[in-house]
Amino acid sequence: MPRSYEYVCPVCENRVTREFRVPSVVRTCENDCGFDHYIRADLLEKVESVPEEDRPDDWEELDNERRVYVALREGVITIPDLQ
Ligand SMILES: [Zn+2]
Repeated sequence: MPRSYEYVCPVCENRVTREFRVPSVVRTCENDCGFDHYIRADLLEKVESVPEEDRPDDWEELDNERRVYVALREGVITIPDLQ
């Protein structure tokens, strides 16, 4: 049984499962969110652990993809996480 990974729509949080591990999957969301980057679920969980004081002032307005970049910059997500 190959492992599977969950990917989350950054807009509506719709989830899809794929049997490969990449940072994000580009696909058209079935909930009319358009052509989007679905982000791997465990990356999104790490994004949540960026400490409050390290979050930029506009954190609430950032989309999930941007938050992944912040998490990378803060070292919460590391390069191996992206593989
Ligand atoms: Zn969606």
